[in-house]
Amino acid sequence: MNIIIIGAGPAGLMCATQCCKNKNNKVIVLDSNDKVGKKLYITGKGRCNVCNKTTKEDFLSNVVSNSKFLYTAINQFSPEDTISFFESNGTKLKIERGNRVFPVSDKASDISKTFLKILNKENVEIKLNQTVKKIDKVNESFCIKTNKQIFYSDVLVIATGGKSYSVTGSKGDGYNFAKDLGHTVTQIKPALVPINLKDYDGSLAGLSLKNVNVFLKVNNKEYSQFGEMLFTHKGVSGPIILTLSSLVNKFNLNDIDLNIDLKPALSEEKLDERLLRDFKDFKNKNLKNYLKELLPSSLIDFFIKKGNFDANVSVCNITKEVRKKIINLLKSFTFKIKSLEDIEYAIVTSGGINVKEINPKNMESKIVPNLFFIGEVLDLDAFTGGFNIQIALSTGYCSGAYIKNL
Ligand SMILES: Cc1cc2nc3c(=O)[nH]c(=O)nc-3n(C[C@H](O)[C@H](O)[C@H](O)COP(=O)(O)OP(=O)(O)OC[C@H]3O[C@@H](n4cnc5c(N)ncnc54)[C@H](O)[C@@H]3O)c2cc1C
Repeated sequence: MNIIIIGAGPAGLMCATQCCKNKNNKVIVLDSNDKVGKKLYITGKGRCNVCNKTTKEDFLSNVVSNSKFLYTAINQFSPEDTISFFESNGTKLKIERGNRVFPVSDKASDISKTFLKILNKENVEIKLNQTVKKIDKVNESFCIKTNKQIFYSDVLVIATGGKSYSVTGSKGDGYNFAKDLGHTVTQIKPALVPINLKDYDGSLAGLSLKNVNVFLKVNNKEYSQFGEMLFTHKGVSGPIILTLSSLVNKFNLNDIDLNIDLKPALSEEKLDERLLRDFKDFKNKNLKNYLKELLPSSLIDFFIKKGNFDANVSVCNITKEVRKKIINLLKSFTFKIKSLEDIEYAIVTSGGINVKEINPKNMESKIVPNLFFIGEVLDLDAFTGGFNIQIALSTGYCSGAYIKNL
């Protein structure tokens, strides 16, 4: 059986390690880059958070789109399987905060090297600098035209990734191939991406806030995240914002308020007690100077402007009404959302090949026999923490294990 896999990311590479186990199979992996796993190199800030040592249920609860579709794939290749796959192939892993799993070496390159070691041993051909331009179905075969040559295969696996960080080779080509072959593609949107804000002048850029609670209010529902965020020139970013962005892209932006609770450890009552106490203790200070007790210096001018407060008023003269307004703003520092940052800067792509058209047991197309889609090109995305590479590995594994026996 001739098998061609387009895309040498974690999904395509994992698929290749499985289908090559049948010696009658001839497996070729094509990639437009000059090295394999180019995106893998930049994952986890160069350390590759390869998976999350968690239960299958918890994994599924971290998948934002179409988690049910992944039920069979994660049962076939779980986070535990990911860990034993790499460790049994000589790459030691370690577990960090939040059960995030990394190579002990802190080098993402070790993950690609593990794949290469296996594939070289099994004589899988990896053809680099081959950009697939067009795919045609010719009778029972696939005809794959690249920038350099034409390949024919009995089985075709499309593992071309999403549409972000296009320098890594993931330019969204897989969506066009899928459409040409009769598939539908759901709306492509950025996920795990900074959020741009309305009525924000960029003056807080660089300010990082730790231990804050950010919540999104959408149609009377609230979604919240506690932790670290930062302001950018256009809006907000950082771990908790990236997570929330995956939810933002499910709603109409005009319906969403982004609220930052700057003092999550204190209830409104406790905050009121503190302000009353402080206003006595610091009675000679004006509001602007007093706020240094509560907020990072670089936030104070913006805070005063946003609340329309008098910066020079002595705290001992602050009325109950203004005190309540200060408390409200500390507990609910609110912005309207302008947009999500461009998909180019998204950690993952939300949307992709419609999973209703894919067999969840082996990732085969329900429309074209012997055609498979795996990894981020599918309409699947998850939160940060190693869940997205796990999606690539699990879907790659179950397609490869099935193709091996075709
Ligand atoms: C900055 C950053 C950090 C990340 N960190 C993490 C992390 O720590 N943990 C985690 O779980 N996830 C992380 N992710 C997400 C993760 O990298 C992806 O979800 C994962 O790489 C998807 O794997 P894939 O194999 O489906 O696609 P990709 O890794 O995108 O691979 C697709 C491959 O297909 C090739 N290709 C595309 N089109 C063509 C064509 N026409 N012809 C030939 N080849 C083609 C590309 O060159 C590419 O090599 C991160 C993403 C980014 C951008």
